[in-house]
Amino acid sequence: MRFPFRIVYFTVLALALLVTSGPVQAKTPMYSGKPAKYVFLFIGDGLGIPQRMAAEKFAQQRLGIDDFPAQGITTTHANDRFITGSAASATALSAGQKTNIGVIAMDPSMRPVKTLVQMAGEMGMKTGVVSSVSIDHATPAAFYAHVHKRSMYHEIDHMLAESGVDFFGGGGLKDPTGKKSKNPQGDALAKAEKNGFKLVSDRESFLRLTKADGRVLAWNKNLPDGKALPYAMDQNPAEDVSLTEFTQKAIEMLEGDQGFFLMVEGGKIDWACHANDATAAVTNTLEFDKAVQKAVDFYNNHPEETLIVVTGDHECGGLTLGFAGTKYESYYDLLSAQNISFQKFTDEVVARLKKENASFEDAKPLITKHFGLKFTGGGDALLALSDHEAKQIQKAFERTVSGEQEKADEPGTYLLYGGYDPLTITLTHILNQKAGLGWTSYKHTGVPVSTSALGLGAEVFNGYYDNTDVALKIMSVMGVSPKVYMAGEAVEPLGRELAVN
Ligand SMILES: [Zn+2]
Repeated sequence: MRFPFRIVYFTVLALALLVTSGPVQAKTPMYSGKPAKYVFLFIGDGLGIPQRMAAEKFAQQRLGIDDFPAQGITTTHANDRFITGSAASATALSAGQKTNIGVIAMDPSMRPVKTLVQMAGEMGMKTGVVSSVSIDHATPAAFYAHVHKRSMYHEIDHMLAESGVDFFGGGGLKDPTGKKSKNPQGDALAKAEKNGFKLVSDRESFLRLTKADGRVLAWNKNLPDGKALPYAMDQNPAEDVSLTEFTQKAIEMLEGDQGFFLMVEGGKIDWACHANDATAAVTNTLEFDKAVQKAVDFYNNHPEETLIVVTGDHECGGLTLGFAGTKYESYYDLLSAQNISFQKFTDEVVARLKKENASFEDAKPLITKHFGLKFTGGGDALLALSDHEAKQIQKAFERTVSGEQEKADEPGTYLLYGGYDPLTITLTHILNQKAGLGWTSYKHTGVPVSTSALGLGAEVFNGYYDNTDVALKIMSVMGVSPKVYMAGEAVEPLGRELAVN
């Protein structure tokens, strides 16, 4: 009985869309007014609804993105798996195309699909791609490169050098010279420079950049893990360039008569959630929200011409806002007892403990110093460790110093440590649980994410829709007929004059 009803229902719906909005073939409402001149797409990698709420509760104030007038719920699944990955999700967001896990801006038959950045470039708009992780990582790459495997960093780096993008900023390149490639194509950085990019890798030169410098490829001097910016909580404001500063500079460099499309990724929310580190996740989420505020400031000066869309590519970690051990209570202020990220603790503190053959007694004061957790009385009682918790930490410490974490994907230990340093992840778990937060996974989850929008055409981002529709809706606001375009195919302007040209 249900099946014929659905056919009738969707036929009526499709006819209604045809009648009300012309040749648009999308499943949810599209925009049909004057095109936007300035378009921002912010992607929080791993930014699910729990991450947003946890950051808000930690900061004790609403996020700026929660005040956006349009709020939608977005499904994220990949073509070949319910729980998506960053490459498939970024392809949905950059081109409106569902694809397979690990595929960058290609359809499931491995045909390249045109991205929003490429469409904007074709229409004469300036374009920018910013990320807090390496600029050839899956999410940013899906806006300028087309590869069947996200790990083809060397190929992606060459596509970056050959791209028409005007501003790249954030993390570095993972394989510019092809050290890890079977077919090295030469130095992608040299190629980028030859193609007119000014290369910038220190804070002072970065802050001095002006429009007169032309096209820019800028990265942070300190790239401690995977060519990414340090976690927001580990950054040194005198040396590091924050995601907010990269965003602000991109706006300054791209602003002008031609209009622009700018994609900004908060990439390390995801990495913190993979490692079940709530403090790093919420502080990176707050930094991401601050970066969005730079676009809001721009919007306030150009309210009739600007669209800002903020979304997540998937949830990560199965973060939930409640834990059996704290029943109905939440103590998110405890998260601020942690003063360095899991990554910095592993790379600096744990590495030193291992090198010095330290005992558990040696480790205790460092655990208290960096996570606030107390082995003896005194201080905040909520941070006092029970005997059971102290034993869990000691067991993890012994595993850490014996170097056993390499075997952490064995059943039995994977659930405890997820392949991370056993001591570090046990400390984030215990601190997070004391705060009233729980994690169910070291990977992504299938829960929908929030999409928020402000500005011209924002209203079409209300409702419940798939991540492919985010790209199609953006196309409609850019003045492009919303559909998937193959690379090389000309974009179809909607039957009205484009704002840019
Ligand atoms: Zn992701």
